Amino acid sequence: MKKTLPALALIGLFATPAAAADTLSDAVKADMPSLLTIYRDLHANPELSFEEVKSAAKMAAEAKKAGFEVTTGVGKTGVVAVMKNGPGPVVLLRADMDALPLVEQTGVPYASKVKALTREGAETGVMHACGHDTHMTAWIGTARRMAAMKSQWSGTLVMVGQPAEEIGSGARAMLDDGLYTRFPKPSTVIAFHDSAALPAGVIGYADGYTMANVDTVDLTIKGLGGHGAYPHLAKDPIVLAARVVTALQTLVAREVDPLESGVVTVGSFIGGTKHNIIPDEVKLQLTVRSYTPEVRKTLLDGIIRIAKGEAIAAGMPENRMPEMKLKDGITPATFNTQPVTNTITSAFAARFGKDRVRQLRAQMGGEDFSQFWLADKDNIQSLLFWVGGVPQAKWDAAGGDVTKLPSIHSPFWAPDPDTTIATATEAMVTAALAVLDKK
Ligand SMILES: [Zn+2]
Ligand SMILES: [Zn+2]
Repeated sequence: MKKTLPALALIGLFATPAAAADTLSDAVKADMPSLLTIYRDLHANPELSFEEVKSAAKMAAEAKKAGFEVTTGVGKTGVVAVMKNGPGPVVLLRADMDALPLVEQTGVPYASKVKALTREGAETGVMHACGHDTHMTAWIGTARRMAAMKSQWSGTLVMVGQPAEEIGSGARAMLDDGLYTRFPKPSTVIAFHDSAALPAGVIGYADGYTMANVDTVDLTIKGLGGHGAYPHLAKDPIVLAARVVTALQTLVAREVDPLESGVVTVGSFIGGTKHNIIPDEVKLQLTVRSYTPEVRKTLLDGIIRIAKGEAIAAGMPENRMPEMKLKDGITPATFNTQPVTNTITSAFAARFGKDRVRQLRAQMGGEDFSQFWLADKDNIQSLLFWVGGVPQAKWDAAGGDVTKLPSIHSPFWAPDPDTTIATATEAMVTAALAVLDKK
């Protein structure tokens, strides 16, 4: 708002602001046939988390061609492409590269037929059902434009191809492999995610918290097994676990401030082998979501407290108390900071028009993009925005009711690649220029 509009950053000696704005749109439009060829190739050849070897090689080759200094194999399969262009801030632009273990059912001509083994060793189809192929393609489009527009910005651009977002580990792996020590450390980090809840070409963002803390919790409810006919000789963990599941519902309803947000979902309840056997234990698998550290603590402390309390109520002996384990480490909440969120979204409004830029509510999904900010949150500004991908005709047919449309992670999710990638490329360039603006 207070900042110079990004269009102004594009003004050449002889151009008016309107003509300058068109220059970027026109350049992206002219590049779309090439970008769509890349997109269809990436879409047809998806790779699972930490296996993004071919995808990374394609991004690295394109960035090199555009004039970036490229390093591969950062955090296993990550790509870092650096362009130093005079004094000024360091801006990191991220695209994640991994696909999901799903059999694609979109029916598009370039649909994936790839098969692979999951981390658990099961055979599966592989599909870009989260749209990370649109992220990679727009990343390439952005690298090309930023290289072509070098005379219009000053600073350093660090473009990152991140592995393994879907398992919440890739950003951490890149940081642990020296992303902020071997390469210029950013003062601003920016990423976008395609959205199945916005029509193609519309940009969305939240102010402040934008994605949630994600904790994956294993809860073991112990009992004392025995014959189903003699329950008085056993301690039944099935009945106890059922009570625990019900009591856990009071955590968000009764213990979290009604103006805060949290989720406790028991997604899996595994126990027993046969009708007439009381088992020894029941295993519960939970996903726990929050934004603030305080709510997160209330939920995690509450889960084990309730489980133990119910075990005591059931008369379980001291050595058969429930056990809780956090799996895979937390994916921390993603936070859009000020003033960069204002600066960039004002630049979006100036470029795309207010109708195409919408402030939305935060989501309870998770995103490890947060790690790039948390690595030094007092000195780094951060923005993650959404770029709508739903083909306009499908959006209209559903009357804008997203419950009638496939969500991301659905085998039917097929974004409109042309509009999504063109908008995302223009938006990423606009965002970078808003920070790297030549004063
Ligand atoms: Zn995903
Ligand atoms: Zn994703």
